[in-house]
Amino acid sequence: MNASASAPLAPDAPWVVLKFGGTSVATVERWRTILQLAAARRAEGARVLVVVSALSGITDALKALCACAPIERADALAKIIERHRALAAQMQLAHTAEMDRWLASLQALVVAAAPEQLRWQATVQAHGELLSSSLGAAFMAANGLPTTWIDAREALLAREVPFLNERARVLSAQVQAEPDPALASALAARGEVFISQGFIARDGDGQTVLLGRGGSDTSAAYFGALLRASRVEIWTDVAGMFTADPRQVPGARLLQRLDYDEAQEIATTGAKVLHARCLSPCRRARVPLWVKDTQHPDLDGTVVAPQPTEVAPSIKAISSRRGITLVSMETSGMWQQVGFLADVFALFKQHGLSVDLIGSAETNVTVSLDPSENLLDSDVVAALAADLAKVCRVKVIAPCAAVTLVGRGMRSMLHRLSGVLAEFGRERVHLISQSSNNLNLTFVVDEAMLDGLLPRLHELLIRAGALRTDDVALFGPSWQALYGGGAELKQVPWWHAQRARLLEVAQATPRYVYHLPTIRERARALRALTSVDRVYYALKANPHPAILRALAEEGIGFECVSPGELAAVDALAEARESPRLFTPNFAPRGDYADALRRGVMLTLDSLHPLQHWPELFAGHEIMLRVDLGRGLGHHDKVRTGGAASKFGLPLDQFDEFLTLARERGLRIAGLHAHLGSGILDAAHWPLVFGQLASLADRIGSVRCLDLGGGLGVPSHPGESELDLAALDTALAEVKRAYPQYGLWLEPGRWLVADAGVLLARVTQTKRKGALNYLGCDAGMHALIRPALYDAWHHIVNLSRLDDAATTLYQVVGPICESGDVLGADRRLPESVEGDVLLIAQAGAYGESMASHYNLRPLAESSVIE
Ligand code: ADP
Ligand code: ASP
Ligand code: MG
Repeated sequence: MNASASAPLAPDAPWVVLKFGGTSVATVERWRTILQLAAARRAEGARVLVVVSALSGITDALKALCACAPIERADALAKIIERHRALAAQMQLAHTAEMDRWLASLQALVVAAAPEQLRWQATVQAHGELLSSSLGAAFMAANGLPTTWIDAREALLAREVPFLNERARVLSAQVQAEPDPALASALAARGEVFISQGFIARDGDGQTVLLGRGGSDTSAAYFGALLRASRVEIWTDVAGMFTADPRQVPGARLLQRLDYDEAQEIATTGAKVLHARCLSPCRRARVPLWVKDTQHPDLDGTVVAPQPTEVAPSIKAISSRRGITLVSMETSGMWQQVGFLADVFALFKQHGLSVDLIGSAETNVTVSLDPSENLLDSDVVAALAADLAKVCRVKVIAPCAAVTLVGRGMRSMLHRLSGVLAEFGRERVHLISQSSNNLNLTFVVDEAMLDGLLPRLHELLIRAGALRTDDVALFGPSWQALYGGGAELKQVPWWHAQRARLLEVAQATPRYVYHLPTIRERARALRALTSVDRVYYALKANPHPAILRALAEEGIGFECVSPGELAAVDALAEARESPRLFTPNFAPRGDYADALRRGVMLTLDSLHPLQHWPELFAGHEIMLRVDLGRGLGHHDKVRTGGAASKFGLPLDQFDEFLTLARERGLRIAGLHAHLGSGILDAAHWPLVFGQLASLADRIGSVRCLDLGGGLGVPSHPGESELDLAALDTALAEVKRAYPQYGLWLEPGRWLVADAGVLLARVTQTKRKGALNYLGCDAGMHALIRPALYDAWHHIVNLSRLDDAATTLYQVVGPICESGDVLGADRRLPESVEGDVLLIAQAGAYGESMASHYNLRPLAESSVIE
């Protein structure tokens, strides 16, 4: 370490504050990192203040020591002493006089009677940080970095906060932290590298107070503001703020950049990585705040700073808080009464309680109390309830949990949240609150409901395009990718390797390009499922002849919905011998006649054909499509169950259908159900199989159960794939209960979506207000899914694939419709006329749904064999 050898710092050298949390100061290896980081900042010309927490677990141990019977204190103290001596030994410190002094003072406190309980507790607990900082100062000095130890209580003075009760005043104090040039220059005169304590301050009487659990972050922020530091770095055990607590949601993504308000909201609503009070001093003094991992200092981490100008509106995080108490106040008579709220809130104030969320109805007001803002104990709540009972009917509901979605401009995202709201709809939500600053949406539920909820919500938010994981400027890798060996990393899509060839065929655009090896690979994966007896390709997804040939060669059958589709299969020598199904809906009589002429198994899904055209079907075998009463899928328009959907025979007409079939001499050889598209939950199909099987048992003649398609393909980065192995296992299990039925699937999208891309050329660019429009020659006539289903297609600039994505674009087409938007808020490299854009995952329902709208020609297509 040769920092002392570098030139002395100027008196006005910038300050950098580095804060290290409990795990970051608990071992000698971490202290080597601290030493290196402090020396590096000093070498860059900064004056350095290191702020430390107590060794991990020590604050808890000191708290326990305060609470235990005097007779047990000696043992508890011995363990704490032992822990510090062990670290000192690992550090190979020759001089531990400072640490010994604090150990002695701790011992004296513990032995002494406690004259004033709260203050005594604060002073005892302060020793955690006093000890760790003393050890650290000795270690850094012994390793070549002269370090001045300062007592944080000299610099941090608690301010008077009105209505704070004594407990909060002593254990959860707040500090006045305006920039203080006098402090900065006084310290500058004393040295270059300093170390001090987190968590502690002094009050007006010069007594020790604490800043609340986790408060060392806030100490660092106070110091940062007082010294007007060039930044505050929070070093912890995780590489930054993530979109959710990574210990609960391993797929949570690193938030690379946040503004103060969003970081504040994430911290306040439960993310313990930053103490909720640490943002405001930094914001006021405009000090940037970094969050980094001490064990992996090279990882990027999170930068909290003023907001960058262009960002996609997105949910940034989900957080949760346990231990919430709800107080529900019911009154019919007094609601209209002027001053009712003033009266009840006066009682909260009297009991020193700060209200968090508020919900109101005509005769009810419900508020929540957050344990991190209130030192809640049952006595306080009971006393409050007793007082409230004099003016209204009170119900205390606890324990509850608050689940919060955080993101700037929450209101503009509400339309994307239907799937998320549906998840809450399953359980009882006590209170929903949207913050007036438009930054959060909070749901209060029973605490027991929290288990497993966050990972599900995180996934749903990504799937809904509400958590914009595609925006690489904001969202970094997932925690799993950073720490779990990158297990979740997806395969690189085929079109990366085919870039040169794609740029070549992009001479004429718009153009679809299909990659047959991908389709074959998908077909083989489905054929390998041992529980599935037959796979039919729903060719409405893409009837390109080359695709039909390839699938026929892979042993896949065809599911057609019109005479045109039947003819397309018949036209191909390679495909016409494959098994085929005809599954139309509200088709004219002639369509059924056509299918029967071709010898294709057809599916009926209403009484009408049997009632009105019985002669057509007499003596034939048919399949029956039923409506199981519910729909599923990625968008309302693709859910195909329930009375609101036109598909399938409703179950209340099932018996009538059987009677008619018997009378008309038809055999029902199979039952069919298809509930919708884009389903990623493998549990869905086994459920349908079970339901169809029990219906089939009532018929007798059924041989096979067709579970439809709907196999989803994830479209947003970070979304999980449909787990085929799990599907196979679950299907095999239900099949064991009904071995007499063959099991069929009829996927469309799953086989072809990823195999196709749409190439388009940039036509024009335009700036409008804050928005950058990027026009291309493919619009909703070429690909209607974004306009029709709000579908999300990944878009890249193929001409500049390796350039950094810097600009936020609205990617639009040439059609005269405002809805002609292929992708909103897409981060791409700066693009110019003539660049080739690639719209990914366009193999399904792209070309097959294209139109001549605006009399634009249809897109061309090419195939890569
Ligand atoms: P330190 O002891 O360094 O102050 P903390 O334990 O207080 O560290 O905070 C770090 C922890 O915060 C992480 O280990 C993580 O489990 C938790 N955490 C909760 N929510 C988040 C989030 N959204 N992003 C990152 N970490 C989070
Ligand atoms: N040591 C204190 C605690 O454990 C403060 C901190 O670590 O931030 O709560
Ligand atoms: Mg902490």
